[in-house]
Parts: sequence; C-alpha cells; structure tokens
Amino acid sequence: MRVGNSVWASALLALSTPILACESCEHPERDVVMTRNVRRMQPDAQNTTVEPRGPLAWGQLNVLHTTDTHGWLEGHIREQNYGADWGDYVSFVKHMRQKARDLDVDLLVVDTGDLHDGAGLSDATGVATYSGVNGQLSNPIFEQLDYDLLTIGNHELYVSAIAYETFNQFAKAYGERYLTSNVQIRNPSTGELEYVGKKYRYFRTQKGLRIMAFGVLFDFTGNSNASFVTKAADMVKESWFVDAVNHKNVDAFVLIGHNPVGLKSSTNTLQTVYKAIRAIKPDTPIQMFGGHTHIRDFAVYDDKSVGLESGRYCETLGWLAVSGINPHGKANPKGVPNPTMKAQKNGTTPTSSSLASSTSASSMRFFRRYLDWNRMTFEYHAEGSQAKAFDTTKGLAVTKNITATRKELNLTSIYGCAPQTWCLSCAPFKSEGSIYSLLDTALSATIVTKERADKPRLIVTNTGHIRFDLAEGTFDYDSSFIVSPFTDAFQYLPDVPYHLASQVLEGLESGNYPSKRDLSSADFGFTQMNPSLDSCIDPPVTHDHLVTKRSYPGGRIIRRQTTTTPGYTTTDDFGTDGDDTIHSKIPYYSYPNFFQSNGSLPANGTLTADAPVDLIFLDYIAGSVVKVLNGLGGNYTNDENFTTNSYLPKYAQMSSEWQANVPHCPVGLGIGYNITS
Ligand SMILES: [Zn+2]
Ligand SMILES: [Zn+2]
Repeated sequence: MRVGNSVWASALLALSTPILACESCEHPERDVVMTRNVRRMQPDAQNTTVEPRGPLAWGQLNVLHTTDTHGWLEGHIREQNYGADWGDYVSFVKHMRQKARDLDVDLLVVDTGDLHDGAGLSDATGVATYSGVNGQLSNPIFEQLDYDLLTIGNHELYVSAIAYETFNQFAKAYGERYLTSNVQIRNPSTGELEYVGKKYRYFRTQKGLRIMAFGVLFDFTGNSNASFVTKAADMVKESWFVDAVNHKNVDAFVLIGHNPVGLKSSTNTLQTVYKAIRAIKPDTPIQMFGGHTHIRDFAVYDDKSVGLESGRYCETLGWLAVSGINPHGKANPKGVPNPTMKAQKNGTTPTSSSLASSTSASSMRFFRRYLDWNRMTFEYHAEGSQAKAFDTTKGLAVTKNITATRKELNLTSIYGCAPQTWCLSCAPFKSEGSIYSLLDTALSATIVTKERADKPRLIVTNTGHIRFDLAEGTFDYDSSFIVSPFTDAFQYLPDVPYHLASQVLEGLESGNYPSKRDLSSADFGFTQMNPSLDSCIDPPVTHDHLVTKRSYPGGRIIRRQTTTTPGYTTTDDFGTDGDDTIHSKIPYYSYPNFFQSNGSLPANGTLTADAPVDLIFLDYIAGSVVKVLNGLGGNYTNDENFTTNSYLPKYAQMSSEWQANVPHCPVGLGIGYNITS
C-alpha cells in the first residue's frame, strides 16, 4: 500500500495565511515624520517591572554582544522580560558609546550571526504571500546598528538565495567589519570562491588599542553548495592566518564566532583557533564571543582569555568589561565599578587545564553580565549618559520602521486569542501548561476531512516541529512563524490495523529513526532537496544545549516566596551572578521526540486489534513510520509529497474559546509565569 497523497494536506492548504488587508495605498517607508512623543517599544509590547541587580562594571575595553537574533527585532511582544525592540537597542548603544567617551575607555559592539529563521519579521518574506528572500526586510533594520565587528551564522548559509543576499547586501553594508574567516561563497558572476566578508580585521580602537579580529563559524556542513566552510583546523594552517597572528603590534585578539564558547562543547572550534594563536602568541589576551547554542555562557580559557556567549532571540544582551589588557594602557575609569575577577573558574580549578595557556603573570580583570532585553534595563544602564530623553531620533525611526514593516507583512493579523501560555519545557509533557497538550487538542480538531471524519485517527508527529513557546495573548500571523514555522505536510495511511498503528509511536521513540536529537548533529543530514525544513531548525549541537534554554536541567517547580520574576538563572565559569536581572528559575522538563494525538477514537479508548484506523503523520517522518510498520510485519511504501501545514492557525480560528476575546486579547506576562502543570 502506498502512502496516500494527502487529502489532509489539501484541506489545510487554504488555511496557511491570513487574509491580507489592502495596503497598496500606504507607503510607510516614505513616512519620515518624527515626533518626540512616539510611544517607545512596539505599540503592543510591555515593559518589565523589575530593575537590574546593579550597575555594570567598566574596564579598559568594554563590549556589547548580541547573537542569534533570528529575526526577533520587534522584541517579545507577549513577554515582559524581553519587550524592547531594535530601535530601543539602537538608542541604548548610542548612550553607551557616549558613556564610553565620557569615561575615556573603549566600547566595541559585536554580533555573532544567525539573523534568520525565528520570527515573522525575517521569515514572512520569501514566502507565497510576499516575494523576495527571508530576511529581506529585517536585515536592513538590523543594519541600522553600526556594529564594530560581526560574523556569519549557519542560518545565513542553508539556502543559497539567503547566502547571496548576505554576500551582496549585508556584507557590503558592514564592509571590513564583517568577518568570515572560514566562509566563502561562489561569486555567481565569476564562478570563483570569495570570502563572504573579510578574513580578519586589524584596527586601532578609539583609545589606541591594537586589535586583530577573526570571525570563525563552527565546522558547519549543512550549507548549500553556494558556500564553502573551511574547517577551523585547516584554517589555522593557512598562511594568511599565520601571518595575521604573527603581526608584531597586537594588544589583543578578538575572536568572534558563530560557535559555542563552552570548552566541553564538541563543536566549539573557537578553542582550535585559540590554541593556534597561543602556539604563536603565548601571552597576548584573546577575548572570544560566541553563539549558536542559544545559551548564556561564559568560559575561562586562561588567565588572559575568556569567552562570552549571549543567548538568543533578542532576549539577551551580553556585556564584557576587561581591564589590564596593555599594562601601559588606560587605567580603569573612575566613578563607575571596575572589573574585579581574575580569569579563573570561580571556586574550582580552571577548565583550561588541558589547553595551552599564557606564560606570564596576568594583571587582567574581567566582568561579565547578561542583560535582559527590555526598556527598563536599557534605561537603567544608560543613566548618566543621557543628556536628553532615552530615545534617539534614529532609535525612534527604527522602532517606527519595525511597526510599519510588521503592518506591511500583516504580522499582527489575528487568528485568535491564546487564553493561556503553553510552553515547550517549563511544564511536564502533556500537562495542562505543556504545548503538547494543546497540540493534542488542535491536531485532533483540525487534521480531519469530511469524507473520513468518522474513522478513528492516530496522528503522529515529531515534537521538534514546535520551535518556541506559545504565549498567552494574540495568536497572530507572526506567532505562526514563531511557534510552528515548519511546512511539513500531513500524510496518511488509510485503514491500518489498530494493533500495528498503535505501536508506531513507541517504535519511533525507541528505534533508530530520525528524531529531534539525531537532527542535532552538526550537519543533521539535511540536503538542499527540502530547504524549507532545514532552514527552520537551528541545530542544537550538543545535549547540553537541549537542556539549557532558559534554565538548567533537573528543574522541578520550586515554589518560594520571592519578588523576582521567572527567567534566566545562569551558571557559568564565574559563578551564578551573571544575570543582570535576578530571576527565579523556570522549571525544565524533558519531552520525548515524538507524540501522538487521537482523533475520533471511541470514548473508552478501546478498539479491536484489527479495527482499521487512519494513521496520519508528517511527511518529514514518513520514512520512519513506514520502517516501523514494516518492522511490525506490515507492507507499506512511502510516496513523498510535500505540501504546507498550518493547523494551529486553523485551530485558533475555529476554537470558540480562542475567538471570544478577538480582537482585544488579554496578554500574559510571558513564558515561565503562572505555570499550570
Ligand atoms: Zn541560532
Ligand atoms: Zn546557529
């Protein structure tokens, strides 16, 4: 029997996007009128009520670091902790640069890649309803911030059109500041490989520090054939690199990379480059900035070298302050706290024992913080550098542009009002607060056609098709990208004996079949045959990534009297005081790789062994489903057929509970608040 060419999918096709309002007569991009009373953040965003723990320390060299923004430039509309938008950040950077000038120290602003695949602002272009490529409208907004150093992420390389957009537009916008030391692209006009950005940047900071910077992507192999990634171990042997490291006048190396900074992470190739530099320059400070694993992390490499990783999705802004880089250089600035930590792992032996290390004593001191991405945080730390109000003309213009772009892309078009928050991992699997309990209901309600509505159905999907928590409040077109962007279609096998169909879930979970965790290896077996799949996953590269989104593993709900709010609780090589806003821990519960929803099964759940059921599953796992069935004695083949999938928007539209408060949805506080389990 062949897998049916899905009637399910065709029933869903028409539901995939909301109706576009007629906006052809509007040209928000031409609207440049500024007023001083523009509402800060996005009009529908919230601010937090919790202040940071205290002022930042400033040293000789200070760095603001973003990574893995993945299109979240509007901020988190439905989460208080992360309500700032890119315009607020633009204003903040201007104030911090002024503060650095006032303190007579250096400030660098750094980003380490992954600008695509995560939110509607980047992902709602290059789709059926809006031509072009992913990131086409979000990248120009991102570019309003004049970074000092940037590097490329794997999400710039899955799809050739995005890689070329990065090469032709983004890299040109930043010129010598965009570093892709091991990433090349085939120039379509010459056929030759060229570096997407520059291999390195040697420059003098405003205060005279001589910096040699590199930008190194981890050993990524899932890229399209438009680009070429040189493994770090090979890159460090190239003569240009050796020459750059041998440069006589370098006060510090700045090594940025879309690359984990944790020394235990198997995909961390920053340490390969670190070792290569140390072999030539045993005593020059090396400051590293990483990303990709979406966590807050800080690692000590040796007494002159540390690495900072600054989270994901415009939830985190990283801060590193360093003093003592050049003993003849600037002293610590006065009137502000200064870095006090030696580069050694707090309370234990350094993790760097197996690495090469510097050979002379160090007088360097370090300070790291992870800032929550909200207005209160930005205003708090900008204080003292604000001659006028916080908002800058440019920041306001960016905010306004984001609002206009959201409108242009119809991102705020409402499907329904989510009456509560459902999360991926903050509540036990399939409990009331678990998104999989919602999916159980939504799949059962929407994956059905009239002709076969009376047949019992088992619907099997991989849990990995959900990308982010579903927050209480408006479920709009934007949310459909944020929560479940994948375009896998539903296929089905009719009339499978119940005793076979009912064993598929267990067979998938236990067997050697593609699963979320298998996908987490660096190349995760994707090909360009189905870019819609791979472009949407940011591969977790190690198991430690899987358990460290906003909290650390092993969490159970700890109920305690506290005025703190739920959020990041980070432990790193300097200890537990890195989070700028003190939070309570959001519990973490693991969940399986696959799950099943039952439709039209008898109320008592009993079916005879031979009773025919329709077995429905995502095309993405069709091969595995067929393998399991045949392993159980069935005889099925797989007929691949890809179409679109959009059951949550459909469910939001058909559920009376979700429609009750349209269009004025009550918005919740965010993920981790009011957990029901
Ligand atoms: Zn990422
Ligand atoms: Zn990445």
